[in-house]
Amino acid sequence: MSDKITKASRHVSQNEGLIFEKSSPGKRAFDLPPLDVPAADPAEALGANHRSEGVAGFPEVSEIEALRHFTRLSTWNYAIDLGMYPLGSCTMKYNPRVNEFVARLDGIATEHPLQPEVLSQGCLKIMRLLEKCLLAITGMDALTLQPAAGAQGELTGLLLIRAYLESQGDARKKVLIPDSAHGTNPATAVIAGYQVENIKSDSHGQIDAEKLRELVTEDVAALMITNPSTLGIFEQRISDIAAILHAKGALLYMDGANMNALAGVARPGDFGVDVMHLNLHKTFSTPHGGGGPGAGPVTMKKILEPFRPVPVLVEKAGGELTLEQDRPHSIGRVKAFSGNFGVLVRALAYILAYGPGIRQATEDAVLNANYIRKHLEGVFALPYSLPSMHEVVFSDAIQKQNGVNTMDIAKRLIDYGFHPYTTAFPLIVPGALMIEPTESESKEECDLFIEAMRAIAAEAASDPDIVKHAPHTTRIGRLDEVTAARKPILRWSQGRK
Ligand SMILES: *Cc1c(COP(=O)(O)O)cnc(C)c1O
Repeated sequence: MSDKITKASRHVSQNEGLIFEKSSPGKRAFDLPPLDVPAADPAEALGANHRSEGVAGFPEVSEIEALRHFTRLSTWNYAIDLGMYPLGSCTMKYNPRVNEFVARLDGIATEHPLQPEVLSQGCLKIMRLLEKCLLAITGMDALTLQPAAGAQGELTGLLLIRAYLESQGDARKKVLIPDSAHGTNPATAVIAGYQVENIKSDSHGQIDAEKLRELVTEDVAALMITNPSTLGIFEQRISDIAAILHAKGALLYMDGANMNALAGVARPGDFGVDVMHLNLHKTFSTPHGGGGPGAGPVTMKKILEPFRPVPVLVEKAGGELTLEQDRPHSIGRVKAFSGNFGVLVRALAYILAYGPGIRQATEDAVLNANYIRKHLEGVFALPYSLPSMHEVVFSDAIQKQNGVNTMDIAKRLIDYGFHPYTTAFPLIVPGALMIEPTESESKEECDLFIEAMRAIAAEAASDPDIVKHAPHTTRIGRLDEVTAARKPILRWSQGRK
């Protein structure tokens, strides 16, 4: 029977070549009826020098070949819709289909940001309502929805701090950043024109408040803190930290990308934060990955409000909404129009679907992370023992004894049907395994993940080579990631093999 099978492999998609390799001259993916009007002379219509004889090397394939090619490629992708995607820090959660439905409604998807404001009142109301929700969740006084990502929110936040301090007569020189912060934080501070001073975490992964007291001088503009930190741990002395900064006229910036550990439970505005960004594409569930689109709104206390990016959404006396451009102290525009509106719509849909129950999402995210922690503790080393919030960070110290590192374990996880967790981050944990299940996952899926991780740990002890050379079930095995990043080949060119 098996000799009747003439396919090159069991799964056609595993052998898919480049579309250029399928090309044969004259093939077309469409068929038009003969022209029944006089043909225009293209040279006359366009001008001879605008006329092309075709694109050299452009693939020529039939409709079904084009369709199958891209459909097969699409089956190589791992996606949140296929299974758990436990990338720590990235908050890869389920994106409810109702968000997509709402974002595609006529009157939302079809609106243009340049249409007159009288015709845009519905969209402006959506933005207004989202603003109110985000202020309620963060406990802040004002915000901007403009930034397109978390990192751009950080930059906006630091520019607000700079503008405020300059208005006080001194922009100051330094921004303090703990070693448990996200990597974008120091990059942001430098782009905003500040020197970065690193603060070492104590043995519990917390900021040493006494050390901080020494470091906060009249030169310090702000502390940028990721809370919960990239260790997944809440800064227990956050109010004291805020007080230390405020006593010296410095401000507290919070990287709020981990707000899925706090929403509905604790409000940064209440524990002393002056300005923070949110990652709507993480916490409030809009599809992300592959570079966007995203939204990184910045919420702030009153003192920073005059400096907000323009335009600012305001309500006129009769209740009509308008985008105000004339704000003399504004840091200016940070993004075209009003940000990534489609992302804002999806985030609002998500928040409204939960309503006050957003607390439930937070509690489930924390519960799932701790469930995984409890079942993997001892199997994997736990470098910091304070309670985990929405994610848990292990290290590969136990598996290292058999020469197996976090990257090997992550690659082996692919063979078990899971997307890898985040490897080697945060930097303060050597050989980190950073795992974030999010609230989306059922107990059954968490159990499967735990089982896979325990099985890999057993393999690392009994047959380390199988882990070290993973993945074994993918079309291509272990990639040379360094060369791929340093010398990327992003374009096919004719004749290159
Ligand atoms: C993802 C993330 C960022 C950066 O957000 P982008 O939207 O990717 O720019 C910053 N800080 C933390 C803690 C994050 O997890």
